Amino acid sequence: MDKPSPPPDWHTLPADEVLAVQKSQPRGLSAAEAEARLGRHGPNRLAEAPPVPLWRRVARQFNNLLILVLLAAAAITVGLGHGLDAAVILAVVLLNVTIGLVQEGKAERALAAIRALLDPRAQVWRDGHLVETDAAHLVPGDVVQVSAGDRVPADVRWLRAHELRIDESALTGESVPVGKGVEPVDAGAELGDRRSMGYAGTLVTAGLGVGVVVATGMRTEMGRIGHLLQSVGETTTPLVRQMAQMGRWITLAVLAAAALLFGYGWGVRGLPAMDTFMAAVGLAVAAIPEGLPAILSVTLAIGVQRMAQRRAIVRQLPAVETLGCVTVIGSDKTGTLTRNEMTAQTVVLAGGVVQVEGSGYAPQGALLRDGTPLQPAELWREAPALLALAEGAALCNDAELVPTDEGDWRLSGDPTEGALLTLAMKAGLEPARLREEHPRVAVLPFESERRLMATAHTDGDGTWRVWVKGAPEAVLARCAQALGPDGAPVPLDGAWWHAQAEAQAAEGRRVLAVATAAWPAGQPLTHEAIERGLTLVGLVGLIDPPRPEAVVALEQCRQAGIRVIMITGDHVVTARAIATQLGLGAQPRALAGHAIEAMDEAALRRAVREVDVFARAAPQHKLRLVRALQAEGHVVAMTGDGVNDAPALKAADVGVAMGHKGTEAAKQAAAMVLTDDNFATLAHAVEEGRTVYDNLRKVVTFLLPINGGESISLLIAVLFGLALPIAPVQILWVNMVSSIALAMVLAFEPTEADVMRRPPRPPREPMLTGFVLWRVALVSALFAAGIFGVYQRALEAGHEPALAQTLAVNTLVAMEIFYLFSVRYLKAPSFTWVGVRGTPRVLAAVAAACALQAAFTYAPFMNAWFGSAPLPLPWLTVSAAAGVAVLLVLELEKALLRRHRR
Ligand code: ATP
Repeated sequence: MDKPSPPPDWHTLPADEVLAVQKSQPRGLSAAEAEARLGRHGPNRLAEAPPVPLWRRVARQFNNLLILVLLAAAAITVGLGHGLDAAVILAVVLLNVTIGLVQEGKAERALAAIRALLDPRAQVWRDGHLVETDAAHLVPGDVVQVSAGDRVPADVRWLRAHELRIDESALTGESVPVGKGVEPVDAGAELGDRRSMGYAGTLVTAGLGVGVVVATGMRTEMGRIGHLLQSVGETTTPLVRQMAQMGRWITLAVLAAAALLFGYGWGVRGLPAMDTFMAAVGLAVAAIPEGLPAILSVTLAIGVQRMAQRRAIVRQLPAVETLGCVTVIGSDKTGTLTRNEMTAQTVVLAGGVVQVEGSGYAPQGALLRDGTPLQPAELWREAPALLALAEGAALCNDAELVPTDEGDWRLSGDPTEGALLTLAMKAGLEPARLREEHPRVAVLPFESERRLMATAHTDGDGTWRVWVKGAPEAVLARCAQALGPDGAPVPLDGAWWHAQAEAQAAEGRRVLAVATAAWPAGQPLTHEAIERGLTLVGLVGLIDPPRPEAVVALEQCRQAGIRVIMITGDHVVTARAIATQLGLGAQPRALAGHAIEAMDEAALRRAVREVDVFARAAPQHKLRLVRALQAEGHVVAMTGDGVNDAPALKAADVGVAMGHKGTEAAKQAAAMVLTDDNFATLAHAVEEGRTVYDNLRKVVTFLLPINGGESISLLIAVLFGLALPIAPVQILWVNMVSSIALAMVLAFEPTEADVMRRPPRPPREPMLTGFVLWRVALVSALFAAGIFGVYQRALEAGHEPALAQTLAVNTLVAMEIFYLFSVRYLKAPSFTWVGVRGTPRVLAAVAAACALQAAFTYAPFMNAWFGSAPLPLPWLTVSAAAGVAVLLVLELEKALLRRHRR
């Protein structure tokens, strides 16, 4: 990497001088040169924040009340002269800390890897073509292009700026966007006043800019102020925090109970201090769900990872929980419900309708008038208006179509514009040559609020020509005349043209109107200047087929009790036709944006109850829709892609941005990003969200009864003055080793079959529902009965207490194993082939737990540490029988509950 040197005052230099210093050109660098520079300058990336050092991570593990209690217990045990017990406690603590570290590292790595999928992209000129690349590959001298919604990818000196406005608050704190231009500014100008510059990480709010990169990576202003890449964001959610909080309360309550127990046993009943102390420690260890928070975090991380594999990237972890509660999805149409592969099918001219054959972007397909093909070479004579329309469609256009080696055509840019280029080529034009012959001198970029775009071009004879294309209402309102069949202007028959547009829309086509005007050279191109007086050339009808997988996903959502409404910039008639094709209701009700505008809050709330399609909707309508739906008590997921969608995405319960066509601004505001822009992916994410919540609940329902069963056993023993059926260090072993090994399986549980056939989870429903509490109580009682039952049997049979305790521990673990099979289906039966077979993970965990128990029971050193004793084999069948009994009782309970519910 180069040594950093103080950057020149790029903002004071004229643009072409900056280009010269950077040894670059208006059309950028060659790919080879860019690669060479990348080797010298290094990637355009901020340095990562240094990782948390190991000692801090270890220390964080010890910042846990239970661990502190155990350390204190170990110290006291040493003081009482029981060195071995203390050593075992310490060993188990160490093992637990190690497991915690590994799990935490795993969860963090999973989340960091997922965030890396959202690395920013940039539009850059390479080898004379505008291409999209990883922003990390930019080098000084690259010429980049940005438009509304983009993040400026590096520090740049502007070469061109059209109504360019940038929000620089990330750098300067100034929240009002600043206008940018190409003129040099004074040397003394503050960062916020350097209008000729764009800075990495700031957000383009409007317009279009082309600039040459002057600094990348840590040499950008953002890097110089010490901004570092955030490697990991939050790794928790309200629910996990709530559970951790609950864990802390339980810990405190248990400590108080343990102290009382010690006071009662030692003070009141006069039991030996050491025994009573160990019983109290045992109770503390037994009752505190120590592994719970860590396993919940891992479960969340695994869920997030699984969503990423299905192309939904979670940016804000709490969204995983909220997804399961979603009752309404507000979805964009183009590209999300449809494929966003536009093809022009019809052209409407004053002289009649022309059909366009062919599909995709390949320029193969005839133009037919009344069934007869038109000859491209003869168009100037046979259909001059069609030729004019094709010319305007190719010029007022930012897309590029490049033939690929496979004989396909690759589109760079907007699909609507790509389809227009194909149309122009079918009409015999060569867009590249046309653009060279009529260079663009000014542009008003497409804005979804105005729904049109305009460009001005030199016309050869020293004058200019303006081309406008956009939604028919927007363009027709600006036209005074239309191009007649012979190419001469005729008065505009507004009613006829509107009817034609409507007829096209009714076929589900997106309709664009193309208009033109002669323009005095040098006259500025502004929205006011094209307010009226244009000449309409014709209409183009484009199809964009529905995604077949979206149709399936819509049906799934319906079964899952989730309403889907479509929000689109397209015309009401087009939108309704597509909604019908998608199966969004037999006769979907539609409402146009201007109608929303006329409604007050109450009226809008009434409307959202019935309307399925909101058309000609602008971003501000989306925000109002989100609010109205929320006021109706809905939990709303809303998709968006544009810079102005950000407020609606933030306001929604789950804001969902499009990874492909979405702007950086939308992604930044969203809780989740769909890398393939596909509605089906969103439906999958909802399914995964529900699964994750199920799994969290399974973890809780699995772990709590273990604590419950152990505590009940200990309490009974102390209260009735009996010997402890399980020694405190043995409880530690079960809780911190065997149970964790088994519970980890639940983080990976696959989706249950009925997940998308249940209604959404009420957002206020607690994790510990009445059902969960009942189940925990029931299983706790079963576990306690099992522990005590086998312990007493073994004593009655004349065995040593050590052997009876070992039997009790093995029985507890056996019951856990069978309970694991039960809890994998909270309410559905577990006695199915799939249920009994388990998953490879379940079987591995069971094998691990059995191996651990074998060591616990038969390894001499374990016998020494934990006071266990080798168990005669027949007794193991008793343990297994207890496990089977638990499973049977629970299957019976599930069956009764199911019958009751029916
Ligand atoms: P959706 O909300 O379904 O994703 P959208 O947001 O893509 O749709 P817009 O892009 O806002 O919808 O388009 C709205 C209308 O603007 C279209 O119906 C079309 O008439 C017009 N339009 C779309 N793209 C362009 C463009 N590149 N140039 C000119 N007009 C366009």
